[in-house]
Amino acid sequence: MRVLKFGGTSLANPERFLQAAELIEKAHLEEQAAGVLSAPAKITNHLVALSEKASQNQPTDTHFNEAVEIFYNIINGLHAKNNNFDLAGTKALIDAEFDQIAGLLDEIRASGKVEDAVKATIDCRGEKLSIAMMKSWFEACGYEVTVVNPVEKLLAHGTYLESSVDIVESTKRVNAGSIPKQNVVLMAGFTAGNEKGELVLLGRNGSDYSAACLAACLGASVCEIWTDVDGVFTCDPRLVADARLLPHLSYREAMELSYFGAKVIHPRTIGPLVQNNIPCLIKNTGNPTAAGSVIDGDENATEELQVKGITNLDNVSMFNVSGSGMQGMVGMAARVFSTMSKAGISVILITQSSSEYSISFCVPAKSTERALTVLNAEFAHELQTGDLDPVDIIRELSIVSVVGDGMRSAKGIAARFFSSLAQANISIVAIAQGSSERSISAVVPMNKAIEAVKATHQGLFNNKKSIDVFLVGVGGVGGALIEQIKRQKEFLAKKDIEIRVCALANADQMLLNENGLNLDNWKEDLENAIQPSDFDVLLSFIKLHHVVNPVFVDCTAAQSVSNLYVRALREGFHVVTPNKKANTGSFAYYQELRQAARQGRHKFLYETNVGAGLPVIENLQNLLAAGDEVEKFEGILSGSLSFIFGKLEEGLTLSQATFIAKEKGFTEPDPRDDLSGADVARKLLILARETGLPLEFDDIEVEGVLPKGFSEGLSKEEFLKILPEVDAEFSQRVEKAKAEGKVLRYVGSINGSKCRVAIEAVDENHPLYKVKDGENALAFSTRYYSPIPLLLRGYGAGTDVTAAGIFADILRTLQGGA
Ligand code: ADP
Ligand code: ASP
Ligand code: MG
Repeated sequence: MRVLKFGGTSLANPERFLQAAELIEKAHLEEQAAGVLSAPAKITNHLVALSEKASQNQPTDTHFNEAVEIFYNIINGLHAKNNNFDLAGTKALIDAEFDQIAGLLDEIRASGKVEDAVKATIDCRGEKLSIAMMKSWFEACGYEVTVVNPVEKLLAHGTYLESSVDIVESTKRVNAGSIPKQNVVLMAGFTAGNEKGELVLLGRNGSDYSAACLAACLGASVCEIWTDVDGVFTCDPRLVADARLLPHLSYREAMELSYFGAKVIHPRTIGPLVQNNIPCLIKNTGNPTAAGSVIDGDENATEELQVKGITNLDNVSMFNVSGSGMQGMVGMAARVFSTMSKAGISVILITQSSSEYSISFCVPAKSTERALTVLNAEFAHELQTGDLDPVDIIRELSIVSVVGDGMRSAKGIAARFFSSLAQANISIVAIAQGSSERSISAVVPMNKAIEAVKATHQGLFNNKKSIDVFLVGVGGVGGALIEQIKRQKEFLAKKDIEIRVCALANADQMLLNENGLNLDNWKEDLENAIQPSDFDVLLSFIKLHHVVNPVFVDCTAAQSVSNLYVRALREGFHVVTPNKKANTGSFAYYQELRQAARQGRHKFLYETNVGAGLPVIENLQNLLAAGDEVEKFEGILSGSLSFIFGKLEEGLTLSQATFIAKEKGFTEPDPRDDLSGADVARKLLILARETGLPLEFDDIEVEGVLPKGFSEGLSKEEFLKILPEVDAEFSQRVEKAKAEGKVLRYVGSINGSKCRVAIEAVDENHPLYKVKDGENALAFSTRYYSPIPLLLRGYGAGTDVTAAGIFADILRTLQGGA
């Protein structure tokens, strides 16, 4: 005998229902088969809602009608496939069940409450009707059918809504020998009967358990659970796209996985199978030829995976019972847990600190209030004397567990588990290791559970690290960055790094995709995007889609975007930017940003703010972290001014040099933006703040290249026309310097707390003497680098080097530490 159980999605519509029927028939022709059926998808939820809503006197029509419609749709489809199918008869059964339900709902409405016994009889009608439809189908196909009535045959103990089956007694009642060999056997899932013969339920998702019980009672050769996935995966394949299918699991692994939340089988399914050594097969109704997963008693199977899966069990509360009087108090733990057990509350996980000062444990959220009441009653005396502190409860938690037989011998799995959580910035409320060493669990805030599973899966099964880029600003630098990301894809893949660009936004439109956008035609795609640019949507996207390592990359020069960084950091993004606005705004915002980054342990990286791709900020930070101090700084921080001053030295006039620089695209569209020195001043401010000076922009003394007030109020064109007016004076300065063996440089300097941007004449011994042609150079005289300063020199502008610097910052988000 083979038992085949079909879940809700496998019965949701006529096509699926027929597939299930076909699979039962095929099995039956090979070996006698018993089909255990759930309710068609959505039905149980509708039924649960019906009694709940009726008890609150809320309308129930929508649920009622939608449920009836699902059944009508199935029987119409079955009849269309085979005219022998008794359409009128099954329709009458459906109508009769729903009439009865309507009657019960009236009673519930009138009394304003729903008794569990009544609720139980309503909630499992879907299963009952699934069996009625399947029976009619097999009869239409000429088979004889034995329907096992679970209320009569499966004896269960427990409550109306959650009972456990007594296999020994049920085996006698089912009496396998009495079932004719040629008959197809069918039984409704989810349902059983108590000692009084009343209908009870086996708990939500309990049809798997029904199937296991029937398999045990019939001494079946296998218990097949037919569902909507190919088998048991390393974690819920709906959460993690690269979850791996597990061809084999031991009973204990499957038990632990399902206990800790793997919904693919009900936690109690394995028990009855173990006792009778019946293998369990998980198969996909939509893909029946796939091998599926085998669960059996073999704990040393060939499979190499030490960790089999990662699960999350949501909606739990954690209780912490603690107090100075607990030390040495004999039998404390026993009292706590027997109190829970007497109250019928299941304790999911326990941790006790070795100091014996506290016991923590988790219970399902729905039992929270009751657990508190019974604990307070049990420990009323100790609470009053102060031996125990008031019971502390943390709500809305999830238990994330890592499960596998191989963990007993493997080392370092816990470390990888916890470091994955830390990397994803998830705080751990408690930790527990199962005594079997087959599982390790971490209790985390529920809103972080999915991220926790994803991050742990990545940490344990993938050496692959992924970064999810949210890019705002796709002009020159942003565009170059996208091209570099595309180009480096393969190279990074070899290093197990994947960069997904999940968002692209310009001022008007944006594209979003949590799995990464296709960048082949990103420009066109963005132009054609219908979604308007909306930073609220963009910033809240990561919570909605549980993105694990999001990086907000701002390639605009907009103040409005830089104002979003604090929020982005608080939402869980790293922030990477070449935009100088945030670091040169008020010192208060500057500090707020760093605080937000520190608090959330996210990175705020802006290496390209100064010297574009040159590694300035990181080197400076490293020096300072190592205890060095900057005594003096001098630098050429503008590529355009470096070029222009270099040309002056070759004998060109200021206007000639400026025109050439402008033509080559080395200057801003209006060269006054460079010549004013403001940009250099901003970079200097960033460096000064980096060295610890709490300065504002106005504290920087700026001598522009042009005389004060020159060309004020004039257009760009008019300015360029009158620029030669300053040539003579400039040439004189150049000549004068030359006579002294010096050259003019536009220098930003920090001396003590004094910051200045000005034209300076430097001699050949000066580190900036040779720096021209658009190069940047930064000379740091420090305690360690003295008397010869540390000199960083190279191109400090250009879209490609800037984009490369941003790229490096993006990759740096993978490194630990804030
Ligand atoms: P059925 O209605 O057939 O009983 P369920 O919805 O109860 O199906 O269970 C199947 C679902 O379990 C899958 O669609 C999947 O999303 C979820 N699931 C959770 N964890 C796992 C896992 N480790 N492996 C496979 N599926 C899992
Ligand atoms: N139909 C029930 C539920 O949805 C039982 C099951 O499907 O296993 O909980
Ligand atoms: Mg299920």
